[in-house]
Amino acid sequence: MACDRCGDLLDVAYAWDRLPVPGALADFERQWSRRYDPHCFSGVWRFHELLPFVPVEQCVTVGEGQTLLQASDGVGRYVGMNPGGLFLQYEGMNPSGSFKDNGMSAAFTHARSVGATRAACASTGNTSASLALYCSVTRLMKAVIFVGSGKIAYGKLSQALDYGALTVQIAGDFDDAMARVKEVSKELGIYLVNSVNPFRLEGQKTIMYRVLEALRWEVPDWIVVPGGNLGNSSAFGKAFCELKELGLVDRSPRLAIINAAGANTLYELVEKQGLCWRKGLPDGAAVCRYYDEMDAQHRRASTIASAIEINRPVNLNKCIRALEGMNGVVREVTDQQILDAKAQVGAGGIGCEPASAASVAGTKLLVSEGVIGPDERVVCILTGHQLKDPNATVAYHTTDQELFNKVLGSRGVRRAAFANRAVAVSNDLDEIIKAIQLYS
Ligand SMILES: *Cc1c(COP(=O)(O)O)cnc(C)c1O
Repeated sequence: MACDRCGDLLDVAYAWDRLPVPGALADFERQWSRRYDPHCFSGVWRFHELLPFVPVEQCVTVGEGQTLLQASDGVGRYVGMNPGGLFLQYEGMNPSGSFKDNGMSAAFTHARSVGATRAACASTGNTSASLALYCSVTRLMKAVIFVGSGKIAYGKLSQALDYGALTVQIAGDFDDAMARVKEVSKELGIYLVNSVNPFRLEGQKTIMYRVLEALRWEVPDWIVVPGGNLGNSSAFGKAFCELKELGLVDRSPRLAIINAAGANTLYELVEKQGLCWRKGLPDGAAVCRYYDEMDAQHRRASTIASAIEINRPVNLNKCIRALEGMNGVVREVTDQQILDAKAQVGAGGIGCEPASAASVAGTKLLVSEGVIGPDERVVCILTGHQLKDPNATVAYHTTDQELFNKVLGSRGVRRAAFANRAVAVSNDLDEIIKAIQLYS
Protein backbone atom coordinates (compact mmCIF):
# COMPACT_ATOMS: atom_id res chain seq x y z
CA MET A 1 0.00 0.00 0.00
CA ALA A 2 3.02 2.31 -0.33
CA CYS A 3 4.85 3.92 -3.21
CA ASP A 4 7.88 1.88 -4.37
CA ARG A 5 9.91 5.02 -4.93
CA CYS A 6 9.20 7.35 -1.99
CA GLY A 7 7.70 4.89 0.49
CA ASP A 8 4.75 7.18 1.23
CA LEU A 9 1.11 6.10 1.02
CA LEU A 10 -0.74 5.73 -2.26
CA ASP A 11 -3.57 8.03 -3.24
CA VAL A 12 -6.59 7.31 -5.44
CA ALA A 13 -6.82 9.61 -8.47
CA TYR A 14 -9.51 9.64 -11.15
CA ALA A 15 -9.53 10.66 -14.81
CA TRP A 16 -12.62 12.81 -14.26
CA ASP A 17 -12.75 13.95 -17.88
CA ARG A 18 -13.48 10.36 -18.91
CA LEU A 19 -16.10 9.71 -16.22
CA PRO A 20 -19.76 10.65 -15.92
CA VAL A 21 -19.77 13.39 -13.32
CA PRO A 22 -22.98 15.02 -12.05
CA GLY A 23 -23.65 18.59 -13.12
CA ALA A 24 -24.66 19.68 -9.61
CA LEU A 25 -24.64 18.16 -6.14
CA ALA A 26 -28.44 18.29 -6.06
CA ASP A 27 -28.41 15.66 -8.83
CA PHE A 28 -27.67 13.09 -6.13
CA GLU A 29 -31.22 13.59 -4.85
CA ARG A 30 -32.27 11.32 -7.72
CA GLN A 31 -31.16 8.36 -5.60
CA TRP A 32 -33.59 9.18 -2.80
CA SER A 33 -36.58 7.77 -4.64
CA ARG A 34 -34.74 4.49 -5.21
CA ARG A 35 -33.92 3.57 -1.65
CA TYR A 36 -35.06 -0.02 -2.28
CA ASP A 37 -31.80 -0.42 -4.23
CA PRO A 38 -29.05 -1.10 -1.62
CA HIS A 39 -26.57 1.07 -3.53
CA CYS A 40 -28.96 4.03 -3.41
CA PHE A 41 -29.78 3.37 0.23
CA SER A 42 -26.10 3.32 1.23
CA GLY A 43 -24.86 6.70 2.42
CA VAL A 44 -21.56 5.84 0.74
CA TRP A 45 -22.60 4.40 -2.62
CA ARG A 46 -25.36 6.83 -3.45
CA PHE A 47 -22.38 9.12 -4.14
CA HIS A 48 -20.67 6.47 -6.25
CA GLU A 49 -19.93 8.91 -9.09
CA LEU A 50 -17.51 10.69 -6.73
CA LEU A 51 -15.64 7.48 -5.81
CA PRO A 52 -15.93 5.39 -8.96
CA PHE A 53 -12.99 2.99 -8.52
CA VAL A 54 -15.16 -0.12 -9.02
CA PRO A 55 -18.47 -0.37 -10.96
CA VAL A 56 -21.38 0.33 -8.63
CA GLU A 57 -22.93 -3.16 -9.02
CA GLN A 58 -19.79 -4.64 -7.41
CA CYS A 59 -19.72 -2.33 -4.40
CA VAL A 60 -20.16 -3.96 -0.99
CA THR A 61 -22.73 -2.45 1.35
CA VAL A 62 -24.25 -3.39 4.69
CA GLY A 63 -26.35 -0.23 4.83
CA GLU A 64 -23.66 2.15 6.11
CA GLY A 65 -24.00 5.92 6.22
CA GLN A 66 -27.58 6.33 7.51
CA THR A 67 -26.42 9.25 9.58
CA LEU A 68 -27.92 12.42 10.95
CA LEU A 69 -26.81 16.04 10.98
CA GLN A 70 -28.43 17.45 14.07
CA ALA A 71 -28.58 21.14 14.92
CA SER A 72 -27.77 21.44 18.60
CA ASP A 73 -28.30 24.79 20.27
CA GLY A 74 -27.55 23.26 23.67
CA VAL A 75 -24.08 22.21 22.64
CA GLY A 76 -23.80 25.45 20.65
CA ARG A 77 -24.42 27.48 23.80
CA TYR A 78 -21.80 25.43 25.65
CA VAL A 79 -19.14 26.23 23.05
CA GLY A 80 -20.12 29.91 22.94
CA MET A 81 -21.96 30.06 19.64
CA ASN A 82 -25.19 31.75 18.70
CA PRO A 83 -28.34 29.65 18.10
CA GLY A 84 -28.59 27.84 14.79
CA GLY A 85 -24.87 27.67 14.12
CA LEU A 86 -23.71 24.38 15.60
CA PHE A 87 -24.37 20.99 13.99
CA LEU A 88 -23.41 17.51 15.12
CA GLN A 89 -22.76 14.91 12.44
CA TYR A 90 -23.64 11.60 14.09
CA GLU A 91 -21.43 8.92 12.59
CA GLY A 92 -22.20 6.67 15.56
CA MET A 93 -25.38 5.69 13.72
CA ASN A 94 -23.42 3.45 11.35
CA PRO A 95 -23.98 -0.32 11.56
CA SER A 96 -20.90 -0.93 13.72
CA GLY A 97 -21.36 2.34 15.61
CA SER A 98 -18.57 4.47 14.16
CA PHE A 99 -17.62 6.38 11.01
CA LYS A 100 -15.20 3.57 10.16
CA ASP A 101 -17.97 1.79 8.22
CA ASN A 102 -17.81 4.46 5.51
CA GLY A 103 -14.22 3.55 4.75
CA MET A 104 -14.67 -0.15 5.36
CA SER A 105 -17.37 -0.51 2.70
CA ALA A 106 -14.92 1.00 0.20
CA ALA A 107 -11.83 -0.96 1.28
CA PHE A 108 -13.90 -4.12 1.41
CA THR A 109 -15.15 -3.45 -2.09
CA HIS A 110 -11.61 -3.04 -3.34
CA ALA A 111 -10.42 -6.15 -1.48
CA ARG A 112 -13.12 -8.21 -3.12
CA SER A 113 -12.35 -6.77 -6.54
CA VAL A 114 -8.76 -8.05 -6.24
CA GLY A 115 -9.86 -11.47 -5.00
CA ALA A 116 -8.76 -11.23 -1.36
CA THR A 117 -10.07 -13.91 1.02
CA ARG A 118 -8.66 -12.58 4.29
CA ALA A 119 -8.42 -9.01 5.59
CA ALA A 120 -6.43 -7.70 8.55
CA CYS A 121 -6.15 -4.50 10.54
CA ALA A 122 -4.53 -3.09 13.65
CA SER A 123 -6.99 -1.09 15.63
CA THR A 124 -7.74 1.01 18.66
CA GLY A 125 -11.08 -0.79 18.39
CA ASN A 126 -13.45 0.72 15.88
CA THR A 127 -11.69 -0.38 12.70
CA SER A 128 -11.64 -3.94 14.00
CA ALA A 129 -15.32 -3.75 14.98
CA SER A 130 -16.13 -2.52 11.48
CA LEU A 131 -14.00 -5.09 9.66
CA ALA A 132 -15.42 -7.89 11.80
CA LEU A 133 -18.96 -6.74 11.03
CA TYR A 134 -18.42 -6.56 7.26
CA CYS A 135 -16.87 -10.04 7.33
CA SER A 136 -19.66 -11.56 9.38
CA VAL A 137 -22.53 -9.94 7.46
CA THR A 138 -21.20 -10.49 3.94
CA ARG A 139 -19.26 -13.76 4.47
CA LEU A 140 -16.94 -12.53 1.71
CA MET A 141 -13.71 -12.59 3.74
CA LYS A 142 -12.24 -13.72 7.06
CA ALA A 143 -11.16 -11.02 9.53
CA VAL A 144 -7.84 -11.00 11.40
CA ILE A 145 -7.52 -8.15 13.86
CA PHE A 146 -4.60 -6.92 15.94
CA VAL A 147 -5.21 -4.96 19.13
CA GLY A 148 -2.84 -3.60 21.74
CA SER A 149 -3.26 -5.17 25.18
CA GLY A 150 -5.44 -3.29 27.62
CA LYS A 151 -5.82 -0.46 25.11
CA ILE A 152 -9.24 -1.18 23.71
CA ALA A 153 -12.61 -0.10 25.06
CA TYR A 154 -14.83 -3.07 25.87
CA GLY A 155 -17.69 -1.96 23.65
CA LYS A 156 -15.37 -2.29 20.67
CA LEU A 157 -13.61 -5.49 21.71
CA SER A 158 -16.97 -7.12 22.39
CA GLN A 159 -18.01 -6.43 18.79
CA ALA A 160 -14.93 -8.07 17.25
CA LEU A 161 -15.39 -11.12 19.45
CA ASP A 162 -19.13 -11.32 18.89
CA TYR A 163 -18.78 -11.05 15.10
CA GLY A 164 -16.33 -13.94 15.14
CA ALA A 165 -13.10 -12.26 14.03
CA LEU A 166 -9.75 -13.88 14.77
CA THR A 167 -8.47 -11.46 17.42
CA VAL A 168 -4.75 -11.21 18.15
CA GLN A 169 -3.91 -9.26 21.28
CA ILE A 170 -0.34 -7.91 21.13
CA ALA A 171 1.63 -6.96 24.23
CA GLY A 172 2.03 -3.32 23.19
CA ASP A 173 0.10 -0.27 22.04
CA PHE A 174 -1.59 0.68 18.77
CA ASP A 175 1.65 1.69 17.06
CA ASP A 176 3.19 -1.70 17.94
CA ALA A 177 0.13 -3.54 16.62
CA MET A 178 0.24 -1.41 13.46
CA ALA A 179 3.89 -2.24 12.78
CA ARG A 180 3.20 -5.96 13.25
CA VAL A 181 0.09 -6.16 11.12
CA LYS A 182 2.00 -4.62 8.23
CA GLU A 183 4.67 -7.32 8.49
CA VAL A 184 2.20 -10.14 8.93
CA SER A 185 -0.08 -9.13 6.07
CA LYS A 186 2.91 -8.90 3.74
CA GLU A 187 4.22 -12.28 4.87
CA LEU A 188 0.87 -14.07 4.59
CA GLY A 189 -0.63 -12.12 1.69
CA ILE A 190 -3.55 -10.82 3.75
CA TYR A 191 -5.35 -7.69 2.52
CA LEU A 192 -4.67 -4.74 4.85
CA VAL A 193 -7.62 -2.47 5.66
CA ASN A 194 -5.94 0.03 7.97
CA SER A 195 -6.16 3.64 6.93
CA VAL A 196 -2.83 3.21 5.12
CA ASN A 197 -5.35 1.79 2.62
CA PRO A 198 -6.26 4.63 0.24
CA PHE A 199 -9.71 3.19 -0.51
CA ARG A 200 -10.76 3.67 3.12
CA LEU A 201 -10.34 7.39 2.57
CA GLU A 202 -12.48 7.28 -0.56
CA GLY A 203 -15.38 5.95 1.51
CA GLN A 204 -14.81 8.53 4.24
CA LYS A 205 -15.13 11.38 1.74
CA THR A 206 -18.86 10.67 1.75
CA ILE A 207 -19.19 11.99 5.32
CA MET A 208 -18.67 15.42 3.77
CA TYR A 209 -21.16 14.72 0.98
CA ARG A 210 -23.81 13.82 3.55
CA VAL A 211 -23.07 16.94 5.56
CA LEU A 212 -23.61 19.01 2.40
CA GLU A 213 -26.73 17.02 1.58
CA ALA A 214 -28.18 17.72 5.03
CA LEU A 215 -27.41 21.43 4.60
CA ARG A 216 -29.19 21.35 1.24
CA TRP A 217 -25.85 21.59 -0.55
CA GLU A 218 -24.69 24.72 1.24
CA VAL A 219 -21.08 24.72 2.37
CA PRO A 220 -20.64 25.30 6.13
CA ASP A 221 -17.88 27.54 7.51
CA TRP A 222 -16.07 24.94 9.58
CA ILE A 223 -15.63 21.19 9.82
CA VAL A 224 -14.21 20.13 13.19
CA VAL A 225 -12.93 16.58 13.59
CA PRO A 226 -10.85 14.63 16.11
CA GLY A 227 -7.42 13.63 14.79
CA GLY A 228 -5.96 10.16 15.37
CA ASN A 229 -4.45 8.43 12.37
CA LEU A 230 -5.74 11.39 10.36
CA GLY A 231 -7.69 9.36 7.81
CA ASN A 232 -10.83 11.41 8.24
CA SER A 233 -9.18 14.80 7.95
CA SER A 234 -7.23 13.60 4.91
CA ALA A 235 -10.41 12.30 3.30
CA PHE A 236 -12.29 15.53 3.97
CA GLY A 237 -9.51 17.55 2.35
CA LYS A 238 -9.56 15.30 -0.70
CA ALA A 239 -13.34 15.48 -0.92
CA PHE A 240 -13.40 19.27 -1.07
CA CYS A 241 -10.39 19.49 -3.35
CA GLU A 242 -12.20 17.23 -5.83
CA LEU A 243 -15.55 18.99 -5.47
CA LYS A 244 -13.84 22.29 -6.27
CA GLU A 245 -12.00 20.77 -9.21
CA LEU A 246 -15.31 19.43 -10.55
CA GLY A 247 -17.00 22.78 -10.08
CA LEU A 248 -19.56 21.28 -7.68
CA VAL A 249 -18.76 23.74 -4.85
CA ASP A 250 -17.30 27.22 -5.11
CA ARG A 251 -15.50 27.21 -1.78
CA SER A 252 -14.31 24.85 0.91
CA PRO A 253 -15.12 25.03 4.63
CA ARG A 254 -12.19 25.54 6.97
CA LEU A 255 -10.91 22.46 8.77
CA ALA A 256 -10.09 22.18 12.47
CA ILE A 257 -8.37 18.99 13.62
CA ILE A 258 -8.41 18.32 17.33
CA ASN A 259 -5.77 16.21 19.07
CA ALA A 260 -5.95 14.95 22.62
CA ALA A 261 -3.22 16.70 24.62
CA GLY A 262 -1.89 13.26 25.54
CA ALA A 263 -1.54 12.30 21.85
CA ASN A 264 -0.63 15.55 20.16
CA THR A 265 1.86 14.72 17.43
CA LEU A 266 -0.03 16.68 14.77
CA TYR A 267 -0.49 19.70 17.02
CA GLU A 268 3.20 19.79 17.91
CA LEU A 269 4.38 19.36 14.34
CA VAL A 270 1.97 21.83 12.71
CA GLU A 271 1.31 24.52 15.28
CA LYS A 272 4.63 24.44 17.17
CA GLN A 273 7.09 23.44 14.47
CA GLY A 274 5.36 24.92 11.43
CA LEU A 275 5.16 21.72 9.39
CA CYS A 276 3.29 22.50 6.17
CA TRP A 277 2.61 21.16 2.70
CA ARG A 278 5.17 23.22 0.74
CA LYS A 279 3.73 22.17 -2.64
CA GLY A 280 4.04 18.47 -1.84
CA LEU A 281 7.38 18.56 -0.05
CA PRO A 282 6.66 18.76 3.69
CA ASP A 283 9.75 18.61 5.87
CA GLY A 284 10.08 14.85 6.40
CA ALA A 285 13.37 15.23 8.25
CA ALA A 286 11.65 17.35 10.92
CA VAL A 287 9.04 14.62 11.36
CA CYS A 288 11.73 11.95 11.74
CA ARG A 289 13.53 14.08 14.31
CA TYR A 290 10.31 14.49 16.24
CA TYR A 291 9.68 10.75 16.29
CA ASP A 292 13.28 9.96 17.29
CA GLU A 293 13.00 12.41 20.15
CA MET A 294 9.67 10.89 21.21
CA ASP A 295 11.27 7.43 21.30
CA ALA A 296 14.41 8.63 23.09
CA GLN A 297 12.26 10.17 25.83
CA HIS A 298 9.96 7.12 25.92
CA ARG A 299 6.97 9.38 25.38
CA ARG A 300 3.86 7.35 24.62
CA ALA A 301 0.39 8.57 23.72
CA SER A 302 -1.99 8.48 26.67
CA THR A 303 -5.58 9.73 26.71
CA ILE A 304 -9.03 8.61 27.77
CA ALA A 305 -9.96 9.12 24.11
CA SER A 306 -8.53 5.73 23.12
CA ALA A 307 -9.59 6.06 19.46
CA ILE A 308 -7.09 8.87 19.00
CA GLU A 309 -4.36 7.54 21.33
CA ILE A 310 -1.77 7.43 18.56
CA ASN A 311 1.90 8.41 18.41
CA ARG A 312 2.68 8.20 14.70
CA PRO A 313 -0.36 9.10 12.58
CA VAL A 314 -0.11 7.12 9.37
CA ASN A 315 -1.84 9.70 7.17
CA LEU A 316 0.29 12.61 8.34
CA ASN A 317 1.31 13.82 4.88
CA LYS A 318 -2.18 13.59 3.38
CA CYS A 319 -3.47 15.46 6.40
CA ILE A 320 -0.92 18.24 5.90
CA ARG A 321 -2.24 18.50 2.35
CA ALA A 322 -5.81 18.72 3.67
CA LEU A 323 -4.82 21.49 6.09
CA GLU A 324 -3.40 23.44 3.17
CA GLY A 325 -6.44 22.86 0.94
CA MET A 326 -8.98 23.75 3.64
CA ASN A 327 -7.04 26.54 5.36
CA GLY A 328 -7.00 24.39 8.47
CA VAL A 329 -5.88 24.70 12.07
CA VAL A 330 -4.89 22.14 14.70
CA ARG A 331 -5.60 22.32 18.43
CA GLU A 332 -5.13 20.07 21.45
CA VAL A 333 -7.59 19.55 24.30
CA THR A 334 -7.16 17.83 27.67
CA ASP A 335 -9.04 14.76 28.84
CA GLN A 336 -10.88 17.05 31.25
CA GLN A 337 -12.09 19.23 28.37
CA ILE A 338 -12.99 16.15 26.33
CA LEU A 339 -15.09 14.58 29.09
CA ASP A 340 -16.89 17.80 29.97
CA ALA A 341 -17.72 18.28 26.28
CA LYS A 342 -18.85 14.67 26.05
CA ALA A 343 -21.24 15.17 28.95
CA GLN A 344 -22.69 18.21 27.15
CA VAL A 345 -23.16 16.20 23.96
CA GLY A 346 -24.87 13.47 25.95
CA ALA A 347 -27.14 15.95 27.69
CA GLY A 348 -28.07 17.86 24.54
CA GLY A 349 -27.65 15.34 21.76
CA ILE A 350 -27.45 11.64 21.12
CA GLY A 351 -24.17 11.01 22.93
CA CYS A 352 -20.74 9.97 21.73
CA GLU A 353 -17.55 8.25 22.80
CA PRO A 354 -14.70 10.28 24.31
CA ALA A 355 -12.62 10.76 21.12
CA SER A 356 -15.62 12.21 19.30
CA ALA A 357 -16.15 14.88 21.94
CA ALA A 358 -12.70 16.28 21.18
CA SER A 359 -14.38 18.00 18.23
CA VAL A 360 -16.80 19.83 20.55
CA ALA A 361 -14.07 20.66 23.10
CA GLY A 362 -11.91 21.94 20.25
CA THR A 363 -14.72 24.10 18.91
CA LYS A 364 -15.15 25.65 22.35
CA LEU A 365 -11.46 26.44 22.44
CA LEU A 366 -11.47 27.95 18.94
CA VAL A 367 -14.52 30.10 19.72
CA SER A 368 -12.80 31.37 22.89
CA GLU A 369 -9.74 32.25 20.82
CA GLY A 370 -11.90 34.12 18.31
CA VAL A 371 -10.77 31.83 15.48
CA ILE A 372 -14.32 30.57 15.04
CA GLY A 373 -16.88 33.38 15.09
CA PRO A 374 -20.09 32.93 17.14
CA ASP A 375 -22.22 33.44 14.02
CA GLU A 376 -20.46 30.94 11.79
CA ARG A 377 -21.86 27.57 10.77
CA VAL A 378 -19.86 24.77 12.35
CA VAL A 379 -20.15 21.01 11.91
CA CYS A 380 -18.57 18.82 14.59
CA ILE A 381 -18.03 15.24 13.50
CA LEU A 382 -19.11 12.82 16.22
CA THR A 383 -17.08 9.85 15.12
CA GLY A 384 -18.33 7.08 17.39
CA HIS A 385 -21.34 5.91 19.38
CA GLN A 386 -21.85 6.63 23.07
CA LEU A 387 -22.02 2.90 23.93
CA LYS A 388 -18.54 2.18 22.60
CA ASP A 389 -16.91 3.12 25.88
CA PRO A 390 -19.41 2.98 28.75
CA ASN A 391 -16.60 2.83 31.35
CA ALA A 392 -15.55 6.40 30.63
CA THR A 393 -19.13 7.64 30.86
CA VAL A 394 -19.98 5.81 34.07
CA ALA A 395 -16.69 6.88 35.70
CA TYR A 396 -17.51 10.51 34.89
CA HIS A 397 -21.00 10.41 36.38
CA THR A 398 -20.20 8.12 39.32
CA THR A 399 -20.45 8.90 43.04
CA ASP A 400 -17.77 6.28 43.63
CA GLN A 401 -14.61 8.32 44.16
CA GLU A 402 -12.42 5.26 43.86
CA LEU A 403 -13.79 4.44 40.42
CA PHE A 404 -13.44 8.08 39.34
CA ASN A 405 -9.82 8.17 40.45
CA LYS A 406 -8.96 4.86 38.85
CA VAL A 407 -10.41 5.58 35.43
CA LEU A 408 -10.14 9.38 35.18
CA GLY A 409 -8.07 10.78 38.05
CA SER A 410 -5.05 8.91 36.74
CA ARG A 411 -5.43 10.95 33.53
CA GLY A 412 -5.46 14.32 35.20
CA VAL A 413 -9.25 14.68 35.28
CA ARG A 414 -10.08 16.48 38.52
CA ARG A 415 -13.79 17.09 38.49
CA ALA A 416 -16.95 16.16 36.65
CA ALA A 417 -18.63 19.55 36.27
CA PHE A 418 -21.63 18.11 34.40
CA ALA A 419 -22.00 14.82 36.26
CA ASN A 420 -25.51 13.42 36.49
CA ARG A 421 -25.16 11.46 39.70
CA ALA A 422 -27.30 8.45 40.51
CA VAL A 423 -29.29 8.96 43.72
CA ALA A 424 -28.65 6.20 46.25
CA VAL A 425 -31.73 5.22 48.22
CA SER A 426 -32.71 2.31 50.43
CA ASN A 427 -35.14 -0.30 49.12
CA ASP A 428 -38.14 1.37 50.72
CA LEU A 429 -41.17 2.80 48.91
CA ASP A 430 -41.45 5.96 51.05
CA GLU A 431 -37.75 6.68 50.77
CA ILE A 432 -37.87 6.20 46.99
CA ILE A 433 -40.86 8.54 46.61
CA LYS A 434 -39.22 11.12 48.85
CA ALA A 435 -36.02 10.99 46.79
CA ILE A 436 -37.90 11.43 43.52
CA GLN A 437 -39.85 14.40 44.89
CA LEU A 438 -36.70 15.95 46.26
CA TYR A 439 -34.69 15.70 43.03
CA SER A 440 -37.28 16.25 40.31
C1 LIG B 1 -10.73 6.04 14.31
C2 LIG B 1 -11.41 7.02 15.15
C3 LIG B 1 -10.98 8.35 15.25
C4 LIG B 1 -9.74 8.83 14.58
O1 LIG B 1 -9.94 9.07 13.22
P1 LIG B 1 -8.72 9.24 12.23
O2 LIG B 1 -9.32 9.22 10.90
O3 LIG B 1 -7.80 8.07 12.47
O4 LIG B 1 -8.05 10.53 12.58
C5 LIG B 1 -11.70 9.22 16.01
N1 LIG B 1 -12.81 8.83 16.67
C6 LIG B 1 -13.25 7.57 16.60
C7 LIG B 1 -14.47 7.20 17.36
C8 LIG B 1 -12.57 6.62 15.84
O5 LIG B 1 -13.03 5.37 15.79
